[in-house]
Amino acid sequence: MTTEIYLDGNATSAVLPAAIDAALDTMGRRFGNPSSTHGAGLKAKAILDEARACAVRLLGVGEGRLMFNSGATEGIQTSVLSALIGLRERQDKGEAIGDLLVYGATEHKAVPESLAHWNRLLGLNLTLHKLPVDGDGAHDLAALRQLAGQAALVCTMAANNETGVVTDLDGIAAVLGDTGSRAYWMVDCVQALGKLELQLASTRIDYAPFSGHKLYAPKGIGMLYVRAGAPFTPLIMGGGQESAQRSGTENMAGIAALGAVLAALERGDTFRSEGELCGFRARLADSLRAALPGVVFNHPFDKSLPTTLNFSVPGLSSRELVDVFDAAQVRVSAGSACSSAKAAPSYVLDAMGLPLWRSAGAIRMSFGPLADEATIAAACARIERCGAALRASCLIPSERTAVPHDGLVQLGVEGACSWMVLDAASRSCIVIDPLPDVTARIESYVRCQNYQVLAIVSTLPNAGRTMLIDALGRHFDRHAQADEYGWPAGGTTVTLENGASVGAIRIGTQVLANMACGAGDELRAYLLGAADGERLPAASVRFAFSARPARQALGAVGAEQTLLCPTRDEHNQFCTSLTTQAAATPSAELQLDGAGLDAFLQAHPDAVLIDVREPYEFAATITPGPAGRVAQSVPLNRLAEYAAEWLRGEPAPLVFFCRSGNRSVKAAQCLRRLGHPQAYSLTGGLALAPLPLAA
Ligand code: PLP
Repeated sequence: MTTEIYLDGNATSAVLPAAIDAALDTMGRRFGNPSSTHGAGLKAKAILDEARACAVRLLGVGEGRLMFNSGATEGIQTSVLSALIGLRERQDKGEAIGDLLVYGATEHKAVPESLAHWNRLLGLNLTLHKLPVDGDGAHDLAALRQLAGQAALVCTMAANNETGVVTDLDGIAAVLGDTGSRAYWMVDCVQALGKLELQLASTRIDYAPFSGHKLYAPKGIGMLYVRAGAPFTPLIMGGGQESAQRSGTENMAGIAALGAVLAALERGDTFRSEGELCGFRARLADSLRAALPGVVFNHPFDKSLPTTLNFSVPGLSSRELVDVFDAAQVRVSAGSACSSAKAAPSYVLDAMGLPLWRSAGAIRMSFGPLADEATIAAACARIERCGAALRASCLIPSERTAVPHDGLVQLGVEGACSWMVLDAASRSCIVIDPLPDVTARIESYVRCQNYQVLAIVSTLPNAGRTMLIDALGRHFDRHAQADEYGWPAGGTTVTLENGASVGAIRIGTQVLANMACGAGDELRAYLLGAADGERLPAASVRFAFSARPARQALGAVGAEQTLLCPTRDEHNQFCTSLTTQAAATPSAELQLDGAGLDAFLQAHPDAVLIDVREPYEFAATITPGPAGRVAQSVPLNRLAEYAAEWLRGEPAPLVFFCRSGNRSVKAAQCLRRLGHPQAYSLTGGLALAPLPLAA
């Protein structure tokens, strides 16, 4: 089964088939403008009236206003503007309005941003005040009680978009009531629509924005409820549509589609019951527990919508989890904003006081009330597949020892690099320049593949190895004598091309030689290659590890084909050589369009397809198309090792690909810089051009 499983319903949902039909009908047959008085207009107006009447019944709007708009962000603006103008009018009459704009610490950014914006524009100079939440994500009602007298406006969401935590609206209403607060109250109901019972007019809520695209209507359509008697100021003035509450010709396709969703909700024959949805969540949670040891859920299920699971896995970043799920065609989102290198922690989980690893590593898996049995079963199977892929890649603990790697691995953090030289046959490895941030990675690599670490060496003296030594336990002989670079005492020597006799460590069929990097220099460089007896001639040096540029480090001891593995790699060069070209290849020359790929492969039967995604992504991949072409898995951290092979002899064309095209372009650029004439990157990656892959 290769279909996509979409589990990101809190970001947006698919569109209900009946809603698509309704939208098409308004664009095709009933395309009139509802303000026109002729027949075509009246037909459109009927759709508008019907959708509104349905919303009014379903949400218990009573005498309140219910207008259609572009979505919740607009609804939030209108609510905030209306409340602030109302407050200003009361202030102008000499009334004390309070000086705080209180908002829940876990509100969607649209709320504090709008509050700050309109407060500034209107010159009200009220103070924004964040209402804390507890470890379960529930608002601190005691704090609200303290603030209620000073609050001019209170904003609290009905359910949180990251965690699904449901707000105790009755509790908040009781606090506002008990304290006699005259604050206006906005409740962002975006995530509640279709999932929580709402009878708005019977509550104290003044403003309730909704968004269509979170519940099977298209993007760009929303609704705003305003309590009868609450202050109201239109955000958009013009032709007087929506009873002059929101001008602009109505988005009829959106309204018709939303109307179809609301009608389905009202009929009660389309969406799953809460009990069924809780059952789905339990099955997903069980699969996650089985596949990802140590997984923790970041919110209490009994206080959350059944359609959201937010979790973190020790030792795994949200980036890694999103990527492995994506490879298995399961669409989930990082629970936090994710920059390319490091995930920013989630402010929602931070507000709940969760430790950084959980808030920065969180994943949100969310589905809608239309979810079906088959999708949940398939999602559980794919979660299992992702767990297996992560275990095989040593990213999560496994009872079995993984197949050992051979060669070189680069481990980078913010521009700095550690390198591992691995020998599968002897199950031994050497670590070069261990960075504290990759200690856990090195440790799990070593343990999971059961290597013995022969040496932990640095290119700088006294660089600190104790953290890694402690972590490695029995995999490293901590009592062995070593100098200030970590270079072990004893060992053998080799003679380099320049005649120098230097210390060397044997690893499998190769040696790692140790040399000072320039006269009187305290930096060291390490050379890796197959020695010819006691000699390590320049042509045999395959790799050098050094902080110096290639010419300085390799000049007298390396050859054209020697690759220099840097200790810093801010610009994703991966490796350089004596012949590296300084200028980058123009991006247009590197890019291979998905549409042109078949023709390219036919014209170049010797071309090699290379998947530069991580091994766990490769392993989790669901074959997207007809088999035929075999892709080789070479993650970026092993690029240096493979680059040496690809450059040898008459180089074959290389087509790198990844998920989106970001990583593959770096790989192609690296090979071009090293002098490969035909290295390409597949534009848009697998996301835009599914390839025939062999697992
Ligand atoms: N409020 C919440 C809780 C949301 O989840 C979202 C959507 O991301 C919004 C507001 C903004 O909604 P819209 O996309 O309709 O502007």
